[in-house]
Order: sequence, then structure tokens, then C-alpha cells
Amino acid sequence: MTATGAGPWRVVLASRNDGKLRELDRILTGTGLAIEVVALPPGPEVAETGSTFAENALIKARDAVATTGLAAIADDSGLAVDELAGMPGVRSARWAGVRAGTRADRDAANNALLLAQLDDVEAERRGAAFVCAAALVTPDGAEHVVHGSLRGRLLTAGRGEGGFGYDPLFVADGETRTNAELTADEKDLISHRGKALRELATVIADQLGGRRPA
Ligand code: IMP
Repeated sequence: MTATGAGPWRVVLASRNDGKLRELDRILTGTGLAIEVVALPPGPEVAETGSTFAENALIKARDAVATTGLAAIADDSGLAVDELAGMPGVRSARWAGVRAGTRADRDAANNALLLAQLDDVEAERRGAAFVCAAALVTPDGAEHVVHGSLRGRLLTAGRGEGGFGYDPLFVADGETRTNAELTADEKDLISHRGKALRELATVIADQLGGRRPA
């Protein structure tokens, strides 16, 4: 699909995670792209059956294109912990196996389990990275995937109220504050999602006719 005409390109954000949606919307708005971002209509979440972030991002974006007929952007992301050989990875959202309750309940259970698993691991072996694959799928079947990552280390207790998911446990390299203690803009500037989405924005700009975001 290529953009024609004067109106903005309508793109659906293929996520039902409010924390993520806020960030995706904010980062895309910051790129200055001439796109109108719309939410997914109500419906069940598509099963994330891929074994990589890229596969899952594509599964979500393809499903959103099939549902809406619009171009779709999806992100699949997670935390890769050195001491756990890259886990929870694509299983980050469901690491503690909790499916009931609110997303905040599930985040709290995931964080508690991760802290317990790293209980006896000293500071220098608590390295980890947030990883994001961001996909653009258009109704004519064109598919693009880009990646972003953010390295850091995990604390022994959470700090901060911002962000979502594992943010209270994670301090990025060069930072003293956790991701949950950064402002939204500070997190977007360094985050795995910010990096991937800003790269995807250049792909979208090409689809829009070669105009690249500032
Ligand atoms: P999914 O991409 O919907 O499968 O879920 C990604 C999961 O990874 C989230 O539910 C969080 O647990 C975690 N995650 C991804 N990005 C972030 C982030 O920016 N901060 C904290 N946790 C994150």
C-alpha cells in the first residue's frame, strides 16, 4: 500500500496492552509522521505462537490487517536476562503463568518471580536487555520488521511508579534511575521500543512517498 491523496494514512496499533499503546502512540506522534493512529476494535487477543519477537510482531500485525483492512503496526517485546539464558524473552508477559486479574497484577507476579529466580545472583551478573521487534504490515501484504534493544541491569527490589511491566526492576546502562523513575520522554529516548519505532517510522515515511520524519 502506498499513500495517495492528501489525508493522513490510517494505521492501526495492534496491541491491547495499555502501557505499550501509550508508548507506541507517543513515540509515533513524536516522529511527526503524517499518519492517523487508530485502536484495534474489541476482540480476543491473537495467540502469540512465534518463538521470536519478530514472528510474534508479524502475527499481531497480520491479524490486525485482517481484522481492520488497514495497515498495522505491532510490537513484540520482552526482557532477556543474561543469568536466565535470555529468558523470559518472548514469554515475558506470561512469565509467572498468571492469566487472571489485571495487567498490573500479572506484572507484579512476573516481577516477584523474576526477583526470586535471581535471589542469589550478585550485582555483576544481573545484566539484562529489553528487546523490541516492531512490524509494519500493509493490506497489500508488504511486511517490514525492525529491532531495538536497551541494555541494563536488574535490581533486587523494584523502584518507581512510571512505565509498566519490568520497568521498576531495570536500570539502563549509564542511568541510576529505574525505567519506572524516568519521565515518559526520557524512557522513549533510550528504550528498545523508541529505537525500533523510530526506525520503523523511516520505513513508513518511504511508504508515504519518501518523506522521512525529522
Ligand atoms: P508482549 O509484547 O505483549 O508479548 O509483552 C511484552 C512483555 O514484556 C510485557 O508484558 C512486559 O512484561 C515486558 N516488557 C516489554 N517492554 C517493556 C518495557 O518497556 N518495560 C517493561 N516491561 C516490558
